[in-house]
Amino acid sequence: MEKSIIIIGGGLTGLATGCYGRMNGYKTTIFEMHDIAGGVCTAWKRKGYTIDGAMNWLVGTGPEKNLHKLWEELGAAGNWKIYNHDVYTIYEDKDGKAFNVYCDADRFEQYLLELAPEDKDVIREFTKGIRDFSRMDMPTGKPNELNSWFDKIKTVKMLPMLMTMKKWMKVTAGEFFKRCKNPYLHQAITSAFGSDQWPMMMVFWILGYQHAKAAGYVLGGALEFVRFLEERYRALGGEIHLKSRVAKILVENDKAVGIKLADGTEHRADWIVSAADGRTTIFDMLGGKYVDDAIKKRYDNPNLFSPLIYIGLGVADPVKEIPPAIDGMSFPLETPVTVAGKERQRLNVRTYSYDPAMAPAGKTVLIVGLDTDYDYWEKLYKDTEKYKAEKEKIADLVVSLLDKRFPGLASKIEMRDVATPMTWVRYTGNWRGSYEGWQFSGETFTGGIKKTLPGLDNFYMAGQWVNPGGGMPTAAISSNQTIQSICSRDKKKFITAKP
Ligand SMILES: Cc1cc2nc3c(=O)[nH]c(=O)nc-3n(C[C@H](O)[C@H](O)[C@H](O)COP(=O)(O)OP(=O)(O)OC[C@H]3O[C@@H](n4cnc5c(N)ncnc54)[C@H](O)[C@@H]3O)c2cc1C
Repeated sequence: MEKSIIIIGGGLTGLATGCYGRMNGYKTTIFEMHDIAGGVCTAWKRKGYTIDGAMNWLVGTGPEKNLHKLWEELGAAGNWKIYNHDVYTIYEDKDGKAFNVYCDADRFEQYLLELAPEDKDVIREFTKGIRDFSRMDMPTGKPNELNSWFDKIKTVKMLPMLMTMKKWMKVTAGEFFKRCKNPYLHQAITSAFGSDQWPMMMVFWILGYQHAKAAGYVLGGALEFVRFLEERYRALGGEIHLKSRVAKILVENDKAVGIKLADGTEHRADWIVSAADGRTTIFDMLGGKYVDDAIKKRYDNPNLFSPLIYIGLGVADPVKEIPPAIDGMSFPLETPVTVAGKERQRLNVRTYSYDPAMAPAGKTVLIVGLDTDYDYWEKLYKDTEKYKAEKEKIADLVVSLLDKRFPGLASKIEMRDVATPMTWVRYTGNWRGSYEGWQFSGETFTGGIKKTLPGLDNFYMAGQWVNPGGGMPTAAISSNQTIQSICSRDKKKFITAKP
């Protein structure tokens, strides 16, 4: 008889875990609290426009990268259409001069050399780093605990790559570019990545994938991407229950044996995998019974992604003045403004004009994203009227700031929508609105997070709450590895299949 797996959460990780579970002959049932699958990988429609809430760049769209095979198995690669950006980000200074970070390292190098020939040494070292990283890849093989001696010997081959990554993890963008003699280049390039504290490893990693054309945008956005995985899961015979909030994980003799839904019904399975929010899983569904010092420390001093205020605007115009760029176009404000209690000196705006699925012909969607303080919104949310008024106020302000920079834009805006950290909490349950879980750091780069809980058997966690840095790739890799671990415990050979 086939063994069974209950999967908590129908985000990308839950769907992917279901797919790999089915490929390996398990009866899989996903319980998802929302009325659609996808979790934070989602979009919402307003007045004929689609506000995409996740798809900027997807690692693994290039066929030569390891992840591509996983996306194929999950039904996405082969069906998707990919758009590769020319520009990663555009940084405008107070004189209106735009600094472009190009995705192609050769073009970027040429551009930088023309801007600052006196900095040719640092420029060449920089673009060499991008090219070196473009040849690197994410490991997608076995989970650590299944690596044999032979596998470990094979990973020795990866040592030079790991050493390079470790080296650049310790150098910040500010430190790397301080050698620039040209003041404009120095200022623009250290600011273009948002913070001069960014580790160079991240800069090289992001631009390396872009140079390799291996991390593109899936046309149709997040909803289209989720559709591929959901269809694949259903075609494999997987079951999914929407509007089914898991309240409790049932445990007998320190073994996870099932779940209890908020409506009181109970469901049992041989294995339980939580692909839902980490804090809810550990402290609510399991009552905080299976924790050690490392877990307590992590949740007592959380190093999370800052939540967002996410302003979507539907414009009856293609807005050609805002060119497509993965991380958008950032411009300075004439005078600083305060939004949600925080002073802002710049605004970042992204266009979706390159994806016809996002807006009717001749129109486009713009997104302005602002990092924000979770506690501010949690408090405000208790008063519905004040919460709504604050969202309106922010929309008014952002529209007026955009109109100053792009005169006439305000009169063409026919849709405005403001999502806040509370929107993510409400629809996805992610703790403190952290849409990608834990920040990536030097410590998590070397240490990692365990996928099991101390003292609890027959249970795994998968997804962004056990893979710092989050992102869609972690959904594919961690689901694949979770099913590998389960197969190993059941003494089954792990197999994968393409559609
Ligand atoms: C604005 C934005 C931009 C992003 N851009 C990118 C990008 O360009 N590239 C990239 O790779 N990644 C990006 N990401 C991140 C990426 O989308 C996520 O890291 C990834 O989708 C997380 O998937 P997940 O399944 O692990 O988690 P989630 O999506 O959080 O899924 C968890 C699921 O569990 C469900 N759940 C929670 N509690 C319960 C419960 N009690 N019972 C039942 N179900 C429950 C939730 O409803 C949800 O569906 C972005 C995210 C955002 C918000």
